[in-house]
Amino acid sequence: MSSAGELLELLRTGRATSLDELADLTGLSEERVARRLEQLTAAGLVLPGQLTLNPDAGVVLGVAVGRSRSQLAVFDLAGRELAGDTRDHVVGLSAPELMPQLVDRLTAMLAAVTPLPGPVLGIGMSLPGAIDPVRQVGLENPAMRGWEGVELAPYFAAFGTADGVPFQVANDAEVLARSELFGTTRRPLRNALVVKASTGIALGVLADGRVISGQHGLAGDIGHTRVDVAGQLPCRCGAAGCLETVAAGWALVKRLVDSGLEAGHVRDLAAAALAGDGVARSLLRESGRQLGDLLAVAVNLLNPQAIVLGGDMAAAFDLYSAGVRESVLSRASATATRDLVFLPATHGDSAGLVGCAALALEYALHPARVEALL
Ligand SMILES: [Zn+2]
Repeated sequence: MSSAGELLELLRTGRATSLDELADLTGLSEERVARRLEQLTAAGLVLPGQLTLNPDAGVVLGVAVGRSRSQLAVFDLAGRELAGDTRDHVVGLSAPELMPQLVDRLTAMLAAVTPLPGPVLGIGMSLPGAIDPVRQVGLENPAMRGWEGVELAPYFAAFGTADGVPFQVANDAEVLARSELFGTTRRPLRNALVVKASTGIALGVLADGRVISGQHGLAGDIGHTRVDVAGQLPCRCGAAGCLETVAAGWALVKRLVDSGLEAGHVRDLAAAALAGDGVARSLLRESGRQLGDLLAVAVNLLNPQAIVLGGDMAAAFDLYSAGVRESVLSRASATATRDLVFLPATHGDSAGLVGCAALALEYALHPARVEALL
């Protein structure tokens, strides 16, 4: 028997857009569907007379934390950003050092949204590296010292009720995949590899409409796969011969500097490539080829409909995607690539943040939680 919460999920995710579809997908009579919709409307979760989630029934907070930058935003339930705050911070800040700052910034941000459409229904956060999905804490990660095992939910207690506010943390590549499910005008992708090619390289995996997390939230962490072409080149992870040593922004910037060009960040590399610099262009294209060699295996494994390319390197999308496409099409099977498309990330630089909002919303509006609200 499908609950009102399950109906809301079908509407929210765009899987059903009419009474007919709701009845078909749930096996309920239209009369029963209508009765459950009345419950959802009375609770303010569905707009009266419409089959859509009320975007103003509340807000969710996105908290995307990286090594040197944190992006924060308030979203309505349709994925529109109501306020945002992105700042660089000192590399190496521990959780007890950074978290109170983030909470202060979120508090200020919420106060500035007037009128606030509704209560904070959920908070979604991303961190680089492995996550313990049960305890909702980060695991050991050399890039994020001082976060391992630190309980994060208590920091957000001020935003919720006595029971606290629903909180979820996930790996940063995983939330990227979620971003492609949220706030898009096209039909959401069901099967996709969502790449973030920036200082590092990682991807999120969407399979049959679900985001794959993996045992430690590390599904898609392909940047540290050994590749023959990298030989014994040292990687920032401490190992040698990883894909990142020949394809990640940090490695390419180093080469660009070695060739005599000035570049401090992978954004400079993409800008130089777009301006026509030959060295930058060949570095980006070759980086795409190296990534594509590994993606070809993933394409045969998962049969995605799209490879989505995001991150700073994808700013030069035509060039970068040409390299990726070349390798994928030459290595993956003809049947797996027949309808495969290469797309830029829907949310650009905000993809991680939007993915956090999607994570928060999915958890906050889980059918069982909605039932409890009614
Ligand atoms: Zn590595």
